[in-house]
Amino acid sequence: MNRFDYIRPNSVSEAVAAAAVPGSSYLAGGTNLLDLMKAGTARPERIVDITRLPGLDRIEWLPDGGARIGALVRNSDLAYDERFARTFPAIAEALLSGASAQLRNAATVGGNLMQRTRCAYFHDMASACNRRAPGSGCDARDGENRLHAVLGWSEKCIATHPSDFCVPLVTLDAVVEVQGLHGAREIPIDLLHVLPGATPERETGLSPGELIVGLRLPAEAAGFSRNARYLKLRERTSYAFAVVSAAAALEIEDGAIRRARIALGGVAAKPWRARTAEASLEGQRPSPQAFAIAADLALAEARPSGDNAFKIELARRIVVRALSLALEGTPEVMPALPASPFAITSGANHAA
Ligand code: SF4
Repeated sequence: MNRFDYIRPNSVSEAVAAAAVPGSSYLAGGTNLLDLMKAGTARPERIVDITRLPGLDRIEWLPDGGARIGALVRNSDLAYDERFARTFPAIAEALLSGASAQLRNAATVGGNLMQRTRCAYFHDMASACNRRAPGSGCDARDGENRLHAVLGWSEKCIATHPSDFCVPLVTLDAVVEVQGLHGAREIPIDLLHVLPGATPERETGLSPGELIVGLRLPAEAAGFSRNARYLKLRERTSYAFAVVSAAAALEIEDGAIRRARIALGGVAAKPWRARTAEASLEGQRPSPQAFAIAADLALAEARPSGDNAFKIELARRIVVRALSLALEGTPEVMPALPASPFAITSGANHAA
């Protein structure tokens, strides 16, 4: 057994000071960290338990119509908050498509952003993995890699980011609120996760000890509530990570697309915003042809990193389907298992 110190701070500043010591890890819901510790992939010398920090478990509505979500809000509480689900339906849909009900009840918003890749070689201590042990190699390159990245990967690492939640957050320009030793700062969520390049061990733009304290959704994001969806393709209908996923949001005015937002999940080491594809749609009348062109643009730079060329075509198709469903309008009741043809039961009511 690995020994570690356990610290339970009373304030954010105490937590940040404690976690700035090298070898520290924050503990919130623990749904990812404890698995990593059991496998030996993570061996923190110091656990900083933030679960009892005051004021981080609230959903607040801002005067301009935006929302602020504390980092300790549980995934289920956020997905089933009526006003939140009505205002940001694609985010609720993404949350409900993740993990299992039990995990969603325990997992926190901040922890979801910080979860590690599910690359099997990263979790297997007998395998070479540049992300876990820099310079050791990447056994995924010649191994079982059909679910690995097709965008933004490098020769050092071809892993994907596993979050569903982050995909619609990226489409809606969420802002991450961070507290560190030198004060508070904000990071656009699209810049929180970084591509592997030559340093795959660096997964986010956070500095040592920095703590995510909240997440803000700008008021403009609410303008997509009528036409927004998150779709997820996976190898079984629940409790599985995305093979590919897509969030699509449209703002329609006088029959034309005024604003479009598209992001992909399961294709890169970060949620992948498709800005060129979005730009191709703006000002256009929605049509299957326009959606197909947008999907081609979204995947224009994609290339297989192994036995996974099929993901490129799959991702193209899910972009078209997410846009088509977004155009149909956000349903009053989201399916319990989004994107599943087997879903026959009702899910969360987003029109209450
Ligand atoms: Fe490690 Fe990345 Fe290679 Fe997976 S793909 S083994 S996480 S370096």
